[in-house]
Amino acid sequence: MPEGDTIRSAANRIGAALIGRDIESIETPHPRHAKDAWPDQLAGRKVRAVDVHGKHLMMRFEGGLTLHSHLRMTGAWGVYRRGKRWHRGAYRAWLVIRTADHDVVQFDGPVLELMTDGRSRFDQRLAQLGPDVLADEFDGARFLLRLHGDDRTRTLGEALLDQRNVAGIGNIWKSEGCFAAGINPWRRLRDVSDDEALAIIDAVRPRMQESVAADFPKDLQVYRRDGTRCPRCQTKIRSRGQGDDNRITYWCPRCQR
Ligand SMILES: [Zn+2]
Repeated sequence: MPEGDTIRSAANRIGAALIGRDIESIETPHPRHAKDAWPDQLAGRKVRAVDVHGKHLMMRFEGGLTLHSHLRMTGAWGVYRRGKRWHRGAYRAWLVIRTADHDVVQFDGPVLELMTDGRSRFDQRLAQLGPDVLADEFDGARFLLRLHGDDRTRTLGEALLDQRNVAGIGNIWKSEGCFAAGINPWRRLRDVSDDEALAIIDAVRPRMQESVAADFPKDLQVYRRDGTRCPRCQTKIRSRGQGDDNRITYWCPRCQR
């Protein structure tokens, strides 16, 4: 699943291709959007900005219209020079925006909707988001407030994936953050101190920022490395599904306490 860093690097590429450019065409080829009138509503408008809230991407058009996208488990963005081959089949495209130089494509949905800027400000899904892990200044106080308000018997790994606690962290950075901070993701929230919770955020922020710049996560220590040796203590890395959604967590049973 794409995490905050992946969405942000996609937003940077989309912004570079679209902001202020003349748009030649906007198409929504997926049958679910066959009856939508977006292409007509957006015709002749330029993109003003592309911004990210956790894993939500907002493409802001002139005239107060916003395209909201969330990739969930399946979706992906592609930005291509015109004439270059796409990395997924055209039949998987939900949105295709063309300029003289680029194709900007959202593949495999699954959330794509046109709304007014006003509605996007009051959208419940966005209003409920916790502080953005990639914000210029992370709002640690609000993060701790949300954690304190969460079910205190919940495991740390599960709570870190809940976008109402902190927005933008997914399975990779949950596992990597707990490892970097030396904290066991199976601990209950009631047994995790504020300093420990903040240490996880402090550990992932620079790495996620680096990932935005590089366009992929680098130097992963435990994620998908189950069965190999821990780089710190040589114990075998373990993995197990965690929480209601059974998302796999990777951790070192020895040096993560
Ligand atoms: Zn270890």
